[in-house]
Amino acid sequence: MPWKSVLSLSFYEEPNVGYKVYRLHFNENLFLPRQYYEKLLSAALDPELIRYYTEPLNPTFNEALARYLNVDAGNVFTVAGGDEGLRLLIQFALHGLRKILIVEPTYSMPRILAESMGLTANQVLLRDGTYELNLEELIRLGGSHDIIYLCDPNNPTGNLFSREDIEYLVSHVDSLIVIDEAYAEFARFSVIDLTRDYENIAVIRTFSKAWGLAGLRVGYVVASDTVIDGLKRLSLPHNIPYTSMVLVLRALELRDYVERGIDNMVSVRDIMTKSLDDLGLNPIPSVTNFITFHVGSQEKANGVHEELLRRGFVVRNLSGKVLCEDCLRVTVPPMNVAEMFISTLENIV
Ligand code: PMP
Repeated sequence: MPWKSVLSLSFYEEPNVGYKVYRLHFNENLFLPRQYYEKLLSAALDPELIRYYTEPLNPTFNEALARYLNVDAGNVFTVAGGDEGLRLLIQFALHGLRKILIVEPTYSMPRILAESMGLTANQVLLRDGTYELNLEELIRLGGSHDIIYLCDPNNPTGNLFSREDIEYLVSHVDSLIVIDEAYAEFARFSVIDLTRDYENIAVIRTFSKAWGLAGLRVGYVVASDTVIDGLKRLSLPHNIPYTSMVLVLRALELRDYVERGIDNMVSVRDIMTKSLDDLGLNPIPSVTNFITFHVGSQEKANGVHEELLRRGFVVRNLSGKVLCEDCLRVTVPPMNVAEMFISTLENIV
C-alpha cells in the first residue's frame, strides 16, 4: 500500500546495550547539582498542577521569557523543545518551494524532519579543515530555498560562526534563516538581537542543554512578527505541559546555578581537549559541552565506538556524517568521569 512508503524514511535508532553505561551521546548538561533540581521541584510539588492545560499559545509564559531575554513578548514563541521549533519552522516550506538548505555537517533532525514531510533537503558543506561557513555558496543557492538551517555553535563540530557572517547571510538572501542556538549559552553567545532588524531570521533556543532540563521539553523561538505569526498558525495550542512551564519559570530564578555549571564544564572541557590532543586524536576546539575528535579513519571510528560501548561509555559515532567520517563526539562529563573516559580511551587507541 502507498502509505507504507513512510517506512523508507530514516529515523533515529538508539543502540540498546542492556547494562549500565555513561551516556555521553546526548549532550545533556551533567554539571548541575542535585540541589538545583530539588529547588526546582519544590516549585511543582502541588500534585494538582497536572490537572491543567497551559493558556493556548502560552502568552503569559512568552512574556516571562521575553523579560529574561530583553525582547518584546510578541517576538517569542514557546515550543516543546528545540526539535518542535525546528519542525514548525520547517513546516513553513510545505507552503512554499518545498526546499530547505542545510549547512552540513550538522544536527541530523532538520534533514530527518524535512524528509519526513516530503521536502527536498539540499546541503552546503562547511569548509574542509576549518569548518567555517561557505558564504558565497550559501548566498548562491539560498534564494531558491524556503529555509536555510544553520546551527551556531554547530553540532557536531562545536565551533562558532561569527555574527558578522550570519548578518551578512541574513541581509543577502530573502530565505528564512533558521539559527539553532541549542548550545549558545555554553558559548555565552547569541544573535537574538538580529531578530529586531531582520524579518527573515528565526533563532531557536532550548532549556534542554545549559539549563539541564531536557526532560521538561521546553524551548522557544525568537523572531520577527511575521515569523511568529506563521508559527501561531502551525502550532498546537497546548504544546507544553503546565508543570514544565512552572518549573522553567522557577529555573529562570536559579540562573546562578546554570552560570556556575557552565564555568565548571568549561574547565573540564579544556582539560579533556588537551588530553585528547595528547592522544593524537585531533579534537576540534569546542565552545559547547561536547567535543568531537578525529580517530583517523571511518573504520577506526567504528572500532573505537564499539570498544568504548563495551567498556561502558556511549559516545556518538559520526562516521555517517560528511567531513566527520573518522569522528566520535563525546559530552563533557564531570571530572571524575572525564578521567575514567580518557584512561579508557588511552587503552583503546
Ligand atoms: N538542536 C540541536 C543542535 C541539538 O543538538 C538538539 C538536542 N539534541 C536540539 C536542537 C533539540 O533539543 P530539544 O528538543 O531537547 O530542545
